[in-house]
Amino acid sequence: MITIGTLALQGDFAEHEAMLRRLNVNTRQVRSANDLTGIDGLILPGGESTTFCNLMQNFDLYEPLAAVVRSGVPTWGTCAGMIVLARHAGDLEFPTLGALDIEVSRNAYGRQVESFEADLSVAALGEPPFHGIFIRAPVVLSVGPGVNVLATVTGGSLRDSPVAVRQDTVMATSFHPELTNDERFHAYFLDIVREAGSSVGK
Ligand code: GLN
Repeated sequence: MITIGTLALQGDFAEHEAMLRRLNVNTRQVRSANDLTGIDGLILPGGESTTFCNLMQNFDLYEPLAAVVRSGVPTWGTCAGMIVLARHAGDLEFPTLGALDIEVSRNAYGRQVESFEADLSVAALGEPPFHGIFIRAPVVLSVGPGVNVLATVTGGSLRDSPVAVRQDTVMATSFHPELTNDERFHAYFLDIVREAGSSVGK
């Protein structure tokens, strides 16, 4: 059975685990390099990216995490997790993992819309729209040529700003599917995990 590791230093990893269990996969909390051994997929949850990076440094997790993503283990970051995966995150006093060719700006939706909800049209998930919960979310400022935009938020000054992106086996959402009852984003990630697993002959 598939095992998905969730980075469990801080943030809403328990909500991800609950959703994954509903989808009948094993979960493992990742707090050390050893915990990464043998996982089929990795989730970096929502939380506070500065705290994540601080703890990743203290627990010597930067290089092991980067190596796992580089090795092709499918990885998904939600909100703070997106920030940690990005190539560049303005206003973050730590290095990122640089695993996803996007540039983000932390907390850049501005005070008026610091937290908001929006129904997102996501072709990869079909109908109905996915209810996006945004909590002090990062804004994606630019995406590299190899990055597919899975969803954008429309309306207002944020028109067409990407909120879900995928580059090969690395995915990121600036919103929190783990805080909804809608399992479709988690199921989509598990499809990526299963495809990656079969392509290396597991
Ligand atoms: N604003 C947070 C940060 O900079 C992210 C918020 C979230 O994960 N909900 O890390």
